[in-house]
Amino acid sequence: MPTALKPILRLSDVSKEYAVGDRRIPVLRNIHLTLHAGAMVAIVGASGSGKSTLLNILGCLDRPSSGTYTVADRDISALDSDRLAELRRAYFGFVFQRYHLLPMLPALKNVEMPAIYARTPSSERRARALELLNRLGLAGRAEHRPHQLSGGEQQRVSVARALVNGGKVILADEPTGALDKTSGREMMEVLLELQAQGHTVIVVTHDREVAAHAERIIELSDGRIVADRPNPRNPGCLPVATPAAGAGRAGPEAPRAGVLESVVEAFNMVRLEMASHRLRNALTMLGIVIGIASVVAIMAVGEGAQRHMQETIGSLTSRLVEIHRGSGWGDSRASAIRTMLPGDLEALREQRYVAGATPLTRASLTVRYRSAHATALVSGVGEGFFKVRNVAVAVGRAFGVDDIRQQSPVAVIDQQARRKLFAATEDPIGKVIIVGNIPCTVIGVTGPASPESFREQELNVLIPYTTAGVRLFGQQHFESITVRLAEHEDGSLAEKSITSVLSYKHGAKDFFINNKDALANAYDESRRSIALTLSLIGSIALLVGGIGVMNIMLVSVTERTREIGIRMAVGARRRDILKQFLTQSLVLCLIGGVFGLLLALASGYLYTAFVKEARMVFTAGAVTAGVLCSTVVGVLFGFLPARQASMLSPNEALSRD
Ligand code: ADP
Ligand code: MG
Repeated sequence: MPTALKPILRLSDVSKEYAVGDRRIPVLRNIHLTLHAGAMVAIVGASGSGKSTLLNILGCLDRPSSGTYTVADRDISALDSDRLAELRRAYFGFVFQRYHLLPMLPALKNVEMPAIYARTPSSERRARALELLNRLGLAGRAEHRPHQLSGGEQQRVSVARALVNGGKVILADEPTGALDKTSGREMMEVLLELQAQGHTVIVVTHDREVAAHAERIIELSDGRIVADRPNPRNPGCLPVATPAAGAGRAGPEAPRAGVLESVVEAFNMVRLEMASHRLRNALTMLGIVIGIASVVAIMAVGEGAQRHMQETIGSLTSRLVEIHRGSGWGDSRASAIRTMLPGDLEALREQRYVAGATPLTRASLTVRYRSAHATALVSGVGEGFFKVRNVAVAVGRAFGVDDIRQQSPVAVIDQQARRKLFAATEDPIGKVIIVGNIPCTVIGVTGPASPESFREQELNVLIPYTTAGVRLFGQQHFESITVRLAEHEDGSLAEKSITSVLSYKHGAKDFFINNKDALANAYDESRRSIALTLSLIGSIALLVGGIGVMNIMLVSVTERTREIGIRMAVGARRRDILKQFLTQSLVLCLIGGVFGLLLALASGYLYTAFVKEARMVFTAGAVTAGVLCSTVVGVLFGFLPARQASMLSPNEALSRD
């Protein structure tokens, strides 16, 4: 027995029924059928008799409802959808009545497609496709798109596609049904030639003339085989097997293309799809562009506002920590607390995080110079005051350590006091003024008040705390100590440390710390709420963009159901389909993301140019977030439609319009 007559496909007791509503309609009933390799078989019967259903089951596009089907002794009921796809790739080539070519691909790419899923390296794939097109008389048509080809030519392209992976078994469903007589006859010649080369050819037809070429005719009626006979007009036409050169060339043992190539392939498909649906993809991308642009722009506006706040409020909320007596503002016993002493000042100065410290004791006293007199706020301070409070001395000098140590009778006055006490032309330096009851020599005049220095509305006179202490205020202890923290020191840690240092010295916590806290907290809080609001708005923008992508992807899946069916028929696995759609949405979102970023940067440029009070600050974080967002949106919103596409059964997808 020639090798060509080995049974290759075997159906035993196969039935198929379709559920329509709650009724189950039997389409195939108890089919027993054995088909041999190298045979040419025609399946005939009236319309609706189940021919296509039978062919789909033979080609593993559909599964039987009951019974067993074996392909080369492998029971297909044991195979999952990916294995079935592999089997389709390795054994079968489909030729459909309506060609089922992908309209956006040129003939050559249509022929190559099954080989892409078989992971054939691209050069080999291309060469094989070209050779097949040549053999089928389509040498000059490789770059034509299907709509630029005649029906007969399209059908020959689909034959080439069926052969590119080997096509041991060619399944043709009414291959001549849509063709004129001449093209139909040519098609039959092609099929006969394939059989002569060793391919198994199974043709579904209701055309007697086509069936006449077969060596075996199987007749279906109402889902049953009613006749199965050798063709009387074509007796003994069994070919002596010369296994096809092409048959079995592909398959698991064929060389595999690398991962890189499969990625390139996925991108190529996406590129083609994008090129063929420009408007739709552009609109989707617009959604993403706006989404990403608003997220990034909003983050930049927020950042700009924060920096602005930091610059204006930041100077107030600087590094100052004030330590006051008592448990808080308005503590009636505070004035009786006498524990804040020069020793505290020394202890605080030794702390690593302290850049400077000064005590402060204040009283409103009368200040006189000759006949002029005024009420001034007299402050006893240390030599550190000027640095801690950021007070500049415009004329003369500030206190030195010696002034403090020697209780020097010297004073530094502010500009208000100078105006009140001295004539505009008089140089105050070296003049003696009476502060309370002590004569003090004026050694300096401060510059304009800064937010950190002292109240502008009052006349301020500064004298060393040692001079002021007992003689002026009648007390050794201070009302408060102000500490300037070193740069980059953590304010709250420093506060904790100050609290413990002083509590230990005082034996109780009889003081409270008023740093910029209240202000800083308000500032932090408003910063947080601004950030929260902005990110909320941004997320909404992104969500809207993402839903846009999902919508388009869903439309795309629905519109391309038949394409998915075709791809599956020629051997695409579920994950190939999933990958294709995910890649598409990812690419859409990434491109959209890049444009979104550019748009945001452009708007930032305009904003900064026209709005003087605030600006947009783009941080690396915002840009990264933009890119990340578009990626996540792409994967997240692309996944659902992609999965839906990949879950379709090939037969179902093919029959949809
Ligand atoms: P043929 O190819 O011989 O014309 P088919 O195999 O396409 O016939 O269909 C056989 C019968 O099965 C028809 O009556 C058809 O209505 C029914 N049928 C085919 N596909 C489905 C389906 N997916 N759901 C329900 N009925 C179907
Ligand atoms: Mg049919």
